[in-house]
Amino acid sequence: MIIAPERRSEPTSTDKLPGEEGCASREQLEQQMARIGRIGRQLFEVADCVVQFKDGCCEFPAATATQSKAEAFCASLPVPEGAVVVPDARRDAHLAAHPAVAGAPGIRFYATQPLRGQGQEVIGSVSLVDSAPRAFGQDARRLLLDLAALVERELQLQSMSVLQIALQKKNKSLRRRSLVDPLLKIWNRAAIMRILGIEADRCDKQGMPLALVVIDLDFFKKINDSHGHPAGDAVLVSVASRLRSCIGPQEALGRYGGEEFLVVLPGACHETALAVAERMRQAVAAQPEFIGATMLKLSISAGIASTVQFPSASTEELISRADVALYAAKDAGRNCVLQAMPRRA
Ligand code: GH3
Ligand code: MG
Ligand code: MG
Repeated sequence: MIIAPERRSEPTSTDKLPGEEGCASREQLEQQMARIGRIGRQLFEVADCVVQFKDGCCEFPAATATQSKAEAFCASLPVPEGAVVVPDARRDAHLAAHPAVAGAPGIRFYATQPLRGQGQEVIGSVSLVDSAPRAFGQDARRLLLDLAALVERELQLQSMSVLQIALQKKNKSLRRRSLVDPLLKIWNRAAIMRILGIEADRCDKQGMPLALVVIDLDFFKKINDSHGHPAGDAVLVSVASRLRSCIGPQEALGRYGGEEFLVVLPGACHETALAVAERMRQAVAAQPEFIGATMLKLSISAGIASTVQFPSASTEELISRADVALYAAKDAGRNCVLQAMPRRA
């Protein structure tokens, strides 16, 4: 499937892929952790259930100044390698003097379960905090382990979605690269031909005309021969940019061959196409190009064909009709636009 950017004339436009927003997965993770906190509070009937991560372990934001007393308490303790349960912190040798325990209303109950990453390294903890002491039996310990497993699973899913987003971005950039001419930054031949096919079908279904313009630079070989290929490249880049400035968002410009261009004009009759091509001719001829101090006068020749004159023509036939008109324009002295006309019976 070809991508359908909003501006056909500018392949550099940024069409978004679903799920491409950088922060979406981080927000999702925050929401999921808040949900787990609520579940933990209800399940264990404690005042707080805190999920925390070591710095740099995941996309979850680090602790902030706005954290609750329970969060600050948990963050102030080292994350243990195994589960720790303190039924009454005031009776615990390590915690009794902690300001959050000693001060009123002090924390009394604390239980924590480390969270492990995919390499089994400790990456954070899920902790329960309450202001009343309590017993915490084997069943409760198993449940806390289950809750930690849910958090770990959520993190794995999140890191998979981060990977997926990175892959989507890469995919999109590869797709773009396969459709855009690297030198001229306009659609390449394959892309412009597909756009032509898609637009021809659309116009046909909607009963609209379609026109196309085939363009060729005049005496381009001379520029290469006199000034070298890199100078020729620079001239081509400038011409492509001038041509692009003459078309609207729904119209498409592509590199059809070396120094040949194809313009697809959906909805255009031959008069509109003539006007567009004439604008392009003038845009190229109006101002000379400079290679160093050397001034180069440029011009293009163009041929036009439209479904108004060739209602039953295939896209290939339309191109070939426009091509014939282009050669007639060359024969007529170049720097001009001619339209393909059906032969009179
Ligand atoms: P005419 O007016 O009859 O079109 O004459 P012309 O010299 O433009 O036509 P011709 O087809 O003989 O020459 C086209 C030249 O375009 C030949 C080729 O070397 C050159 N060319 C094609 N692609 C590129 C490119 O990407 N960069 C450069 N510098 N030259 C290119
Ligand atoms: Mg040429
Ligand atoms: Mg040519």
